[in-house]
Amino acid sequence: MKPGRTQQNCGGTPQTRPAAGRGSHLAEGWRDREEFKARVLEWARTLDVAAKSIYVRPMRRKWASCSTAGTLSFNDELLDLARDLGDYVIVHELLHFSVPNHGKLWKSLMRVHLGEYELLENRLHTHH
Ligand SMILES: [Zn+2]
Repeated sequence: MKPGRTQQNCGGTPQTRPAAGRGSHLAEGWRDREEFKARVLEWARTLDVAAKSIYVRPMRRKWASCSTAGTLSFNDELLDLARDLGDYVIVHELLHFSVPNHGKLWKSLMRVHLGEYELLENRLHTHH
């Protein structure tokens, strides 16, 4: 009887992210956290928000958080989701700098910038 181990891995190509700059996955996911942060800054300019520090890090139970001091934190799991969901979370948080709740004003601003934002919200919630 051979002590032979069963080979668990097929030894094929490891599953890695698509090479940067291929351009074939524009609809899905972010290239890296730098690209995500650049997007946050872009939105911050658009929305006229002073985002001082931006972090992309592991978070529990939250996609993002913000502090009035201008610090924004985003869950790094967002990097694996479609980019329009990232946009949703970014705009959601940035609007909280001027609108601290989810009232009428916040909703109308969300609609101005993202259109049918409720659809994005629903998609996001099905991820967790
Ligand atoms: Zn909120």
